[in-house]
Amino acid sequence: MTTPGNLIIISGPSGSGKSTVVQRLMVDSALPLALSVSATTRPPRPGEENGRDYIFLTDEEFQAKRQAGEFLECKEVFGRGYWYGTLRNVVSAGLSKGKWVLLEIDVQGALAVLQGYPQAITIFVHPGSMAELEKRLRNRGTETQDSIQRRLDVAAEELALRHHYTHEVINDEIDTTVQQLCKLLVQYQGEKVPCSKN
Ligand code: ADP
Ligand code: 5GP
Repeated sequence: MTTPGNLIIISGPSGSGKSTVVQRLMVDSALPLALSVSATTRPPRPGEENGRDYIFLTDEEFQAKRQAGEFLECKEVFGRGYWYGTLRNVVSAGLSKGKWVLLEIDVQGALAVLQGYPQAITIFVHPGSMAELEKRLRNRGTETQDSIQRRLDVAAEELALRHHYTHEVINDEIDTTVQQLCKLLVQYQGEKVPCSKN
């Protein structure tokens, strides 16, 4: 029988570096990680691929899945009509194969998932400061001024809820952050697997 996997929830303000850290973790970590690809109605950014970064859906497709109860949690993020959601079958398929399923979702989504999976490992990725967060959002070059402001407003709300998470990691220097996360995760395994592949 396969050992059931673990559920890991990573949240943090948009622009704090979650995707960057998670991508590195997927490559570097020796743990059997599986990234849960969320569905969204947001249009793809340049370079984003359907099925890899998100499952990009139309409003109609998303709402049909919502009605059918296919989401573990879903919500409209940033109040501009874009929906994001975690698909139940993606999570359960990963867990039943013994994978450590990683969700990169917002705080409200995380709190909703914790209702069903209270044993989930929760990690809040902190940008260090609001000034640093703003700098990263600007440098990423993907957002309008309007969207940056909205993300900063939401960030302040998310930071106020970070006490709900078991772990908080300040993403200052990327290599250090990845190492820190790796070390933190291996503490949860019964059989010892090294933190990184190297
Ligand atoms: P999120 O997924 O949380 O929205 P991203 O991973 O897209 O954030 O990162 C936002 C921007 O900050 C990107 O341009 C990324 O390259 C950059 N970034 C990520 N981590 C760091 C870091 N530790 N130091 C400086 N810049 C970073
Ligand atoms: P972005 O548009 O920058 O990719 O993501 C915006 C926000 O949506 C981020 O805070 C991210 O964590 C959140 N997000 C991504 N996928 C999901 C999801 O499936 N559910 C929820 N609740 N939030 C998500």
